Amino acid sequence: MITSSFVRPIAFLKALGARPVTEAAPARDKGSASSRFGGSVQLRHVDAGSCNGCEIEIASTFGPVCDAGRFGARLVASPRHADGVLVTGMVTKNMAVPLRKTFEAVPRPRVVVACGDCAVNGGVFAGAYGVAGAVGDFVPVDVEIPGCPPDPSAITEALRGLTGR
Ligand code: SF4
Repeated sequence: MITSSFVRPIAFLKALGARPVTEAAPARDKGSASSRFGGSVQLRHVDAGSCNGCEIEIASTFGPVCDAGRFGARLVASPRHADGVLVTGMVTKNMAVPLRKTFEAVPRPRVVVACGDCAVNGGVFAGAYGVAGAVGDFVPVDVEIPGCPPDPSAITEALRGLTGR
């Protein structure tokens, strides 16, 4: 006779085998930004003028639910230790030079990820008096993550596209 103390572990093991724990990794195109990195990517985050909505979603991206770290993506403190920059917000006049300097400090090969509508095209702040432009006006963007703000799952998927995991 199978007792309840055995049923729970058996059900757990069955559930593990029933479906993949995560979705399959996105396909990596040859010559794309993702093909420059071997399974992990370290990113220096730059807030170029965000409302902080995108930062909350990035925090969730690296939190316990999405846990982008398990796919090889990490945020690092120094651009010297990074493979690229993860930029949020449209670029304000005060942040145009710091963004460019941070990008230049990242060793090659390097990648630029524009996270959120503001970073991609200025979003709701496009044309505002303190705005110098979108991220692509100052550094070459490799990956765009649309949304205001983008969902943590969308950010995770984009980062998995870079790591290939
Ligand atoms: S895309 Fe939306 S959430 Fe992100 S910085 Fe712009 S306004 Fe804020």
